[in-house]
This record gives sequence, structure tokens and C-alpha cells, in this order.
Amino acid sequence: MSYDIVIVGGGPAGLACAKTAADRGMKPLVIERKRTIGKKICAGGITWNGLIQKVPGFAAEREFPSQFLFSRFQQAKITAEFPIIATVNREKLGRYMANIARNAGAEIRTSCLVKAIDKNNVTLLNRDKGISERIKYSYLVGADGSSSLVRRYLGIPVNFASVGINYQVPGDFPKMQWHFNSTLFRNGYAWVFPHTETASIGAFADAKIIQPALLKKNLLRWTEESDFCLKKSSPSAEFINFDYRGWQFKDNIFLAGDAAGLASGLTGEGIYPAIISGNAVAESITTPGNPLTELSRLIEMHKKHKKMASISGRSRFAGTIMSEFFILALRTKLFTFNKIEMAN
Ligand SMILES: Cc1cc2nc3c(=O)[nH]c(=O)nc-3n(C[C@H](O)[C@H](O)[C@H](O)COP(=O)(O)OP(=O)(O)OC[C@H]3O[C@@H](n4cnc5c(N)ncnc54)[C@H](O)[C@@H]3O)c2cc1C
Repeated sequence: MSYDIVIVGGGPAGLACAKTAADRGMKPLVIERKRTIGKKICAGGITWNGLIQKVPGFAAEREFPSQFLFSRFQQAKITAEFPIIATVNREKLGRYMANIARNAGAEIRTSCLVKAIDKNNVTLLNRDKGISERIKYSYLVGADGSSSLVRRYLGIPVNFASVGINYQVPGDFPKMQWHFNSTLFRNGYAWVFPHTETASIGAFADAKIIQPALLKKNLLRWTEESDFCLKKSSPSAEFINFDYRGWQFKDNIFLAGDAAGLASGLTGEGIYPAIISGNAVAESITTPGNPLTELSRLIEMHKKHKKMASISGRSRFAGTIMSEFFILALRTKLFTFNKIEMAN
């Protein structure tokens, strides 16, 4: 079989790329190793400028015009006239994006793991049938997340990655919360992101600065002290790649989303960067030479976030200063919360 574009990975980056490419008359194939599109370890937070206005109501679960922030020396409630952050159900978002990509003409194969790549073909294993198949590509897009096989095929290492640990906890949680404590979470933070019948409670930090096992231990210590009960849920964790080194390689191979390292090193926001970069890759293949304004802006913001994460990760003291300054600046309206959106 042969396709114009073979996209490895059916996350937001891959599905956005497939839809845009199919809209422009190409024949894209998305290959996804999981049986169900959309399942993903994630807190499911989306931002106002980034996605809230673009995602249909059914995929968004709850919207929060108020954010509650806590650091060692301050607490703040920040309120805007619009939802600063909403939470989405990743499975519903995945299903929605897959449907519109299919309706545009893309083919999506699930339960298919890409095992090998060469100059012209990918080899996949159909996990349900136990059959291997070689598929020829004209363009190959690695939208296969933070442990990208396509990125490894290109020989591009990942030297900067955060780890995100998530517990999906049953219950009704009224407030969206951010907790900064550089002793426990170094240059990251812990969060409570409420969904409809659960909340995502977790922590995120640079994996080089704090070992994932220690981050988990500290998260558990913090939840115990804060009276959040995690007993009915189990942890899941994944790396979030923020080591961006480019998105086009060897003329016909591209990376998007986490595979390209485009998630934020500061906040872990990755859904918006995945969609923007997936779209941009498809645009660049179908309409070479067109300016990719949103992608360029995203790359600039990504650089800023990486720099800020690096400064706050230098020491516990630097982390404390950064988080105290951040909350003070929000409280005194020196800047607004959406300044830290990747879409800003
Ligand atoms: C704990 C945690 C919390 C997070 N919270 C947020 C948040 O609140 N807001 C936010 O914006 N971002 C958040 N993120 C980041 C966000 O989830 C990712 O940045 C985003 O999903 C990246 O999208 P993607 O399409 O690039 O990759 P992914 O969503 O990871 O999709 C990649 C897909 O590729 C598939 N795949 C991988 N390898 C292969 C292969 N060899 N063959 C076939 N298929 C393959 C995978 O199964 C997967 O479906 C969080 C991440 C973590 C870990």
C-alpha cells in the first residue's frame, strides 16, 4: 500500500495534521497503536486563547474563570471575565478530532504499532490480527508523542523532558488549583484540575532536576498534608518532551507535537502546540512556502518557556523567587494569567 502522507500517532498532532492534509486533497493515513483514539495520560487543561474557543462544547467538561494559586508565602484567587482554563475529556476530544479527520478523507488505523521505518516505508504490526504490513510513504510525519520512534529514526535525542504524574480522583472538586513549592516540586507544580465526576490531581517538573520517583513521593506527601485522598485511584506518568530541534528533516520527514518537543517546559501545556504544529506540517507539505505564522509564534513562546523553566530550575531558591514573583505579579495585575499560555 502507498499513501501521500503517513502519520505515526493518532493524538492531537497527528489528527490535526491528517484533517488539514485531507482538506487539501491529499491521502493521509494515521497509524495509531492504541485500540481507542484519544486515551492519554493528561490533566486535560486547555486555555482560552489556545483552544477553549475552538473545541466544541461536548468535549469541554468544565470551565474556570477563577484560578486558585498557592505558594509558600502567598495565596491568590485570579478571576477573568472568560474561562481562563477549561478541562477536556481526552477521549471525547480524540473521537471528535478523528471524526472530522475521517470526514475530510483521512484514513485512521487503530491497534497498529509502527515497528520500523526506512527511507520509503514504515512497517506496522496489526495487533488485533497479528499481521505485519509495509506501507510506502511520500511524506512521513512523526506525531508519535514524547517517546517518538520517528524522532529516534532521525537520530534526534531528547535531552529536555518533564515528567507528569497524574491521579484521576473520583469526586466533585469545585476549584481549579495550582500549587508551587520548590522544595517538593522544584521548577514544576502540583495541580487540581476538576473534570465532571473526577479531578486530575498531579505534579509536573523537569525530569533532570527531580527524579520521577521523588516527584511522586513528594506529590503523595503533599496530597496527604492537603487532605486529598488518592487511595481510590492509581498513578500514571509520562514524559513531556520540550527539547525542540526543528520540525522538518530530510525534505520529506516531519515531527509535530510532543515528538517535536514542542510542549511547554514551564507549564506542560502540549495539546495546543500539538494541534498548531500538526496543522503547520500539513500546510507546509500541501502549500510549500506559505508563512506559518502560528507555528512561528508558538516556537518563540516555547523558547521563552524553556528559558524560564531553566532559570527556576537552577536552585530551590530560584524556583521560590520565580513562583512568588509570578503570583505577586498576578495579584497586582502586573500581568494576566493568559500571558503564560502557549497561544500568547
Ligand atoms: C500527566 C500529564 C498531564 C498533562 N496535562 C496537560 C494539560 O493539562 N494540558 C495540555 O495542554 N497538555 C497536557 N499534557 C501534555 C499533553 O498531553 C501532550 O503534550 C499532548 O498530548 C501531545 O500531543 P501529541 O499528539 O503530540 O502526542 P500524544 O497525545 O502523546 O499522541 C501520540 C500518539 O502516538 C501514538 N504512538 C506512539 N508511538 C507509536 C507507534 N510506534 N506506532 C503507532 N502509534 C504510536 C500514541 O499511542 C499516541 O496516541 C500533559 C501530559 C502529562 C503526561
